Amino acid sequence: MTPITKEWLESKVIIDANGCWIWQGATSNGYAQVWTDGSSQRCYRVSYICYKGPVKPGLYVLHKCDVKRCINPEHLYEGTAQQNRADLFARGDPEKVYNQNSYNKSLTKCKRGHPLSGDNVYLNPSSGSRQCKACLKERRANK
Ligand SMILES: [Zn+2]
Ligand SMILES: [Zn+2]
Repeated sequence: MTPITKEWLESKVIIDANGCWIWQGATSNGYAQVWTDGSSQRCYRVSYICYKGPVKPGLYVLHKCDVKRCINPEHLYEGTAQQNRADLFARGDPEKVYNQNSYNKSLTKCKRGHPLSGDNVYLNPSSGSRQCKACLKERRANK
């Protein structure tokens, strides 16, 4: 297995006009992905740790530049998941905020066929996932 070093990371990127280090390896959901210690990890997190040191428990590595494939440690910072959402809100893209962490982001219908759009979508503020309001209502009624 390749040990992850700064040199190795730098050999896998192309630096664009904005100074972003665009990852040329595997991606997942558009994010740079790398295999290390037998599991796949977000490459920008690995890069941050490599250049800046360990991330404090409970904190996430976030992008300043909003380029998912960018792993430039200077474009990364530590923050909470909440901060991440707040940042994206500040950039005027709330839909993306919820989509980004959402496992069901690509669904247009819930398991039971209700449309996952418009008024029927409940955006779970803690998980960021999109849930079906009609089903939530039913589940509550059946309790
Ligand atoms: Zn960048
Ligand atoms: Zn439903």
